[in-house]
Amino acid sequence: MKKFFKIAVFVLIISCSVVFTGCKRQKDNIEEFGQGLSNYYMDIQYDDNNKSLYAEQTVEYVNNSNALLSEVYFHLYVANFCKDAKNFPVEDMYKAKAYPNGESYASLNIIRVKLNDKDIMPIYEGDDNDFMRIELTDKLEPTQSVEIYIEYSITIPNVSHRFGYTDKGVNLANFYPIACVYDENGWSKNPYHFNGDPFYSDMANYYVNFTCSSDFIGAFTGGAEEVVDGNTKYYTINSLCIREFSAMLSKNFKTITKNDGDVKYTYYYLNDDTPEKALQCAIDSINTFSDLFYPYPYNYYNVVQASFLYGGMEYPMLSLISDEVENYDDYLNVIVHETAHQWWYSLVGSDEYSNPWLDESLTEFSTLLFYNYNDGYNLNYTDMLNAMHENYNLFVSVYQDVLGSVDTSLNNRSISEYNTSPEYTYCVYVKGTLMFDSLYQLVGKNQFIKSLKLYAETYAYQISTPDGLIACFEKATKTNLQNFFNSWLTDKVIMY
Ligand SMILES: [Zn+2]
Repeated sequence: MKKFFKIAVFVLIISCSVVFTGCKRQKDNIEEFGQGLSNYYMDIQYDDNNKSLYAEQTVEYVNNSNALLSEVYFHLYVANFCKDAKNFPVEDMYKAKAYPNGESYASLNIIRVKLNDKDIMPIYEGDDNDFMRIELTDKLEPTQSVEIYIEYSITIPNVSHRFGYTDKGVNLANFYPIACVYDENGWSKNPYHFNGDPFYSDMANYYVNFTCSSDFIGAFTGGAEEVVDGNTKYYTINSLCIREFSAMLSKNFKTITKNDGDVKYTYYYLNDDTPEKALQCAIDSINTFSDLFYPYPYNYYNVVQASFLYGGMEYPMLSLISDEVENYDDYLNVIVHETAHQWWYSLVGSDEYSNPWLDESLTEFSTLLFYNYNDGYNLNYTDMLNAMHENYNLFVSVYQDVLGSVDTSLNNRSISEYNTSPEYTYCVYVKGTLMFDSLYQLVGKNQFIKSLKLYAETYAYQISTPDGLIACFEKATKTNLQNFFNSWLTDKVIMY
């Protein structure tokens, strides 16, 4: 995600030479990498009159852990958008912006659940009944699968969020039951939180039929086939190797499309006088990060301008950009940031709830790095970094003056352990970026890029950890970096 935080940036265009290290890796065959993953088959109908969804979903869940599983857990994030949810999605300071027509809530009705074609009663857990536990009849061996059918209906709240509708369109993310991750700590059951991106998911294959009225234009995680029959539009989306599925709908989307390399880029927008610039920014970002880190493995990339209370949000093959980002340089910067998440969150997964810095700080640093390889944009690395230094120092001094102390630790600090949204932003986005800049200066550009190539290569389609990232930097640079990372990641306030 990209939060709004103001950085005074002086306009100075520096010309940069493009130096890429290492030999080029071939683009992955995504069908090959999708073998052995869980499969989601979803039939979804959107009813605009009632602002509701009806869905039938069959999950062929594959046990890709080494453990014997006696249950499978699903997140029900919609439960957090329901009235009186304890893990509610919008903090007080954002409520007026998020709910322009007053607070509005979702409803979720799980109609029927079947395990291997037999009706079962799931067990609901969590503060908001936001987890669904499916007890398995027989223990599930590694690499074996079970089939779980879930029929459900949802009403969508009137909120400018990842999941919600406004008069501009409908954002459908985190709306369907998605399997929790089973990792070395067992089932990960962290709830929704208004800070950051409280998500954590495995790669899976999605086969989705999506129906809506024909006056809507839909943007999805991946390419979509479209058939119109009378007043009804039928979309088919088959996206392999993605961490989650999302759909953005609007009656007002205009589109601009361009093929570059083997990627089809589409920009869905509501208001933009220079849509070709936004589209080119997406192309430049995908190409730059493909060269620097790992070849973008998909054939589609969609940038979608929609109503959203923060700056933007990342999904596989789809970046949601708020239509309320006022300055166009900032707007393009959000596109760069969300596109960097295609590597740090999407390709390389991580537990974003427990260690938000791992994807977010690296994404924000990658955003700055983009400008070192692309002149012609009105932002640059040095000015953005200097502004971050100033902002961070100001944040630390204000917190120390007002509260007497400040906790700027990053590692193993979950998003729920940041007291306020600004505290989260200045630690995870700003301090995290300063850390990666310091490392960039310490090991040098070539070693730094080599390390990130190794990191992407090691964890592509997998789940990374802080130790995994550090190990890749140490291996690539042949340098002991434990002290470096410890000093930045633990609660040692670093002033400049
Ligand atoms: Zn982000």
